[in-house]
Amino acid sequence: MKTLSDNLSVSSAGTLLFAGHDTLALAQKYGTPLYLMDEQRIRRNCRTYVNAFKNAFGDRGMPLYAGKAAAFKRIYQIVREEGLGIDVVSAGEIHTALQAGFPLENAYFHSNNKTDADIAYAMECGVGYFVVDNREELDAIDAAAQKAGIRQKLLLRLTPGIDPHTYEAISTGKVDSKFGTAIETGQAEQLVRYALGLRGIELTGFHCHVGSLVFGEDVYQRTADIMLAFIADMQAKYGYTAQQFDIGGGYGVRYTDDDPQLDIARKIAEVAAHMKAAAARLGITLPKILMEPGRSIVADAGLTLYTAGSVKRITGYKNYLSIDGGMTDNPRYALYGSRYTVYAAGRMNETPDLLCDVVGRCCESGDIIQPNVTLPAGVGRGDIIAVCTTGAYNYSMASNYNRLPRPPIVMLDGDRDYVAVRRESLADLTANDL
Ligand SMILES: *Cc1c(COP(=O)(O)O)cnc(C)c1O
Repeated sequence: MKTLSDNLSVSSAGTLLFAGHDTLALAQKYGTPLYLMDEQRIRRNCRTYVNAFKNAFGDRGMPLYAGKAAAFKRIYQIVREEGLGIDVVSAGEIHTALQAGFPLENAYFHSNNKTDADIAYAMECGVGYFVVDNREELDAIDAAAQKAGIRQKLLLRLTPGIDPHTYEAISTGKVDSKFGTAIETGQAEQLVRYALGLRGIELTGFHCHVGSLVFGEDVYQRTADIMLAFIADMQAKYGYTAQQFDIGGGYGVRYTDDDPQLDIARKIAEVAAHMKAAAARLGITLPKILMEPGRSIVADAGLTLYTAGSVKRITGYKNYLSIDGGMTDNPRYALYGSRYTVYAAGRMNETPDLLCDVVGRCCESGDIIQPNVTLPAGVGRGDIIAVCTTGAYNYSMASNYNRLPRPPIVMLDGDRDYVAVRRESLADLTANDL
């Protein structure tokens, strides 16, 4: 049987193997719902970026892991060992990275609304760079830095006016986006001029992020053209040389067999060649290039296991298969209709002939993991159900709705399996209740 990803395979007994481990045995050992992560796949994905950047830019480039895709201590340790920097978006992510021993001089602090407390905390922790969304925030950072007696290095987040043609909810590079300051309206230039006059900050360059799930051929090329032209323009007008250009994250991954398999190393080589040619044409030195992959580092390293409950066959209408998790551990279909591949992990050699919606246990009709899934007709209560490609934006978006404890994260590394995040207990759920 052909599986979605090459870390998935089927045993001779017809059970699903993930990273070489029997998923039924893991479900038995750790219980369900259960997040599994393939450590070697995370490392391989990291190396794809690190090596592609080394080949393209030497030491004038660095990938940053966008921790919002999956943030817990172990992942920061792995990413550190693999030589990536990080992008963080909250005091919570900064704290987690610190606890994991991550050197924060290679951390870039995002968010479209950093509070004064966030700013103070990030400076105190020694976060290397802030990525600034707008003028008010710039003022707040400048004031905090002057008070602390430092010059805070930062990048300005600009909107290049690119629509990457992905989902509306995850498109962030258009002029009217809630993120960043627009180039097209002249506000980006005003912000640069303004930033260059501030004493508490050092403007090190520019950032943009056009969206997520990018498969399009030339999205980053078009983005780079606009951003590098802006960088050249700032150099000509104000004598300002940008040291860094961060082009954001967003490469797509395979959620279903319909999605293409991107060759990210090749893509980066192409974008790099395009950037070098554009810089030469514009007569500027290419700044240090940063990129912030999140999803493409961890998504295909993740798999979630559930135990099936009832199969409800509504005669003449449709079928539902209920599982023991739901939008609490994977809200992505409920949020923006994300697609997933679902398997009955113990019935991999049976013909999938039952059309059903795989639904969660939460008190919401919208609590759907995936509609219109075909599973073997024998599937039912007690079967282990696997949802693939859940390494990104599942654990990090999980909630305790309906007071459901969050599942643990178990890492698979060669023959070894170990707990990286323990299962929440009922006691954890009331730990903050007074
Ligand atoms: C979400 C985000 C990323 C990561 O996007 P992926 O699609 O997970 O690669 C990177 N940079 C910024 C600013 C983001 O908001």
